[in-house]
Amino acid sequence: MPIKLLPISLANQIAAGEVIERPASVVKELIENSLDAGADSLVIDIEKGGRRRIRIRDNGAGIVKDELPLALARHATSKISSLADLEAIQSLGFRGEALASISSVARLSLTSKPASQSQAWRAWVEGRDMTAELAPASHPDGTTVDVEDLFFNTPARRKFLRTDKTEFGHIDDLLKRIALSRYDVRLVLNHNQKTVRNYPAVTKQNALERIAKVVGTGFTDCARFIDAEHLGVRLWGWVAPPEGCRHQADAQFFYVNGRMMRDRMLNHAIRQAYDDGLTDERSATYVLYLELAPQDVDVNVHPAKHEVRFHQAREIHDFVLQSIRQVLHQNAAAAPGHQYQ
Ligand code: ADP
Ligand code: MG
Repeated sequence: MPIKLLPISLANQIAAGEVIERPASVVKELIENSLDAGADSLVIDIEKGGRRRIRIRDNGAGIVKDELPLALARHATSKISSLADLEAIQSLGFRGEALASISSVARLSLTSKPASQSQAWRAWVEGRDMTAELAPASHPDGTTVDVEDLFFNTPARRKFLRTDKTEFGHIDDLLKRIALSRYDVRLVLNHNQKTVRNYPAVTKQNALERIAKVVGTGFTDCARFIDAEHLGVRLWGWVAPPEGCRHQADAQFFYVNGRMMRDRMLNHAIRQAYDDGLTDERSATYVLYLELAPQDVDVNVHPAKHEVRFHQAREIHDFVLQSIRQVLHQNAAAAPGHQYQ
């Protein structure tokens, strides 16, 4: 076959293949966009496990009319403009791919009104060249992204979707992870017109209220507060001691600079800190936040961004291990209070 450029829609579908695996992946990308836009209230409507509809309304900065087509184009982003920015990333997004990818495998529309604009506009893309269409709309300050019929045009992907219940379960898990990354953001999750989760915004001092809602009081009643610092790296949060706590297998939350992570090196450090206090690897329970200079960690490892690479991996590993070990091995009486200070 002769060499030719792929139609834009096909190129975007190929990119979508890497990031958009299931409805929860769409929800993740859209929530990250809302948070990057400074929103502190998100309402998420899901229908049929997300296969029928995923709609997110936020009260963030919005997108001006002239930029709506760009927001839907691939490699278009307002978040970085140079390699230097990429190397010190502050936002959750930066690839400029999510909206283009999603709109190539679903019917996506973007409605937005920045406070500076009196009229809201709605945009969507059509055809093989994904030309953006625009129409006036009615919308308060902020943005709504509406994603219908996910994978309607990619049957191979659609076939891998599980039941609505399973897909919704993935969305619910994701929401919990987000909820623990941003206490200050109100999150409402509706499924088939029924409110399933409602996390009001709380201050950092009242973090335990939200953690109790997300993880359960079995954890918050006995978790120990940890706050350690070493060479500009800070680890804080809560860990449940191996004994005397009702453990939940799925309550393992680790954030690096506000980004939720599943990292083998960190898992290993935590596991080691628990020593043989635990019989079952899955029952370590924690909500932990690692904070370090953005230059010292590379988030551009995987398109879905749940892996990171630390420049000082060994030091981070040992620091996490030592800090957790110390808190776990303190006897309960000597342990610091379990409130955020
Ligand atoms: P990225 O997040 O990597 O920049 P996306 O395709 O997810 O790429 O989004 C493209 C651009 O659209 C963003 O850079 C941002 O400027 C804009 N955008 C997307 N969603 C929102 C939103 N909810 N509120 C405001 N702007 C948004
Ligand atoms: Mg994004």
